[in-house]
Amino acid sequence: MPELPEVETVRRGLQPAMEGARFTRVEARRPDLRFPLPKNFVQRLEGQTVVGLGRRAKYLMADLSSGEVLIMHLGMSGSFHVLHGQDLHGKDADTPGKFHHERGKIGNHDHVVFQMSSGATVTFNDPRRFGFMKIVERGKLDDEPMIASLGPEPLGNAFDAAMLAQACKGKKTSIKAALLDQQNVAGLGNIYVCEALNRSRLSPKRQASTLATRTGAPHARTAPLVDAIKAVLQDAIKAGGSSLRDHRQTDGDLGYFQHHFRVYDREGEKCPTPGCGGTIKRIVQTGRSTFFCPVCQK
Ligand SMILES: [Zn+2]
Repeated sequence: MPELPEVETVRRGLQPAMEGARFTRVEARRPDLRFPLPKNFVQRLEGQTVVGLGRRAKYLMADLSSGEVLIMHLGMSGSFHVLHGQDLHGKDADTPGKFHHERGKIGNHDHVVFQMSSGATVTFNDPRRFGFMKIVERGKLDDEPMIASLGPEPLGNAFDAAMLAQACKGKKTSIKAALLDQQNVAGLGNIYVCEALNRSRLSPKRQASTLATRTGAPHARTAPLVDAIKAVLQDAIKAGGSSLRDHRQTDGDLGYFQHHFRVYDREGEKCPTPGCGGTIKRIVQTGRSTFFCPVCQK
């Protein structure tokens, strides 16, 4: 499942193709993804210019000249493919190397195709169809339950130790569950929570309330955790950026790239914390795998 850094990488990959460009032709090859496509989907997009391509949590948001916003979500297996105009005359799109999931067979699961005035063809492929597209009025975005319920962006200034302490004050749930709660912080997923907790040497089983003092002020351990969260995301976005550069010339696939994780999916391996010597353990918390080092994460 794509996490925030992947979605941000996709956004950056789509930007040159879509931002400032007009939808010259839109093709919906089936009536639904996870949900039915919006009413008059094609008509509401064709002729509109993408004024800006943003992101909120894991939602891609294309601001349209009509005043509407096209919200796109990759779901579990969604990806975009960008064919730039010049590619049509040269290279054929080949399968790139290191992707987390195999892309669906070209064509079979290409559900939505955007022809842009930039000359680019942007194709949305989604074998499992958990992804979706929605169109909403810009002014009514805050009424969208999936957007309205979101907490601050983890990379934004609003997400800091004071905010996280307030959100976790008195909470009996685990710190892992608190960080996965999208109302506390938006778009943070299983992988990066595991990574950030290892970096900041906090046990995923620790009670969330211990991030705050009795008055709700941040505990000394909270700011380093916030820093670790921002750092793991920034590192992954940087890695995604380089994967984007590597693939742009040969292939237009955007979406999944292999990272080097410290603990995620590394059960039984040595903890990367210098001088620790512990072994990564896997436990299940609220139905999800947690990877952590029981020696240095307290
Ligand atoms: Zn360790």
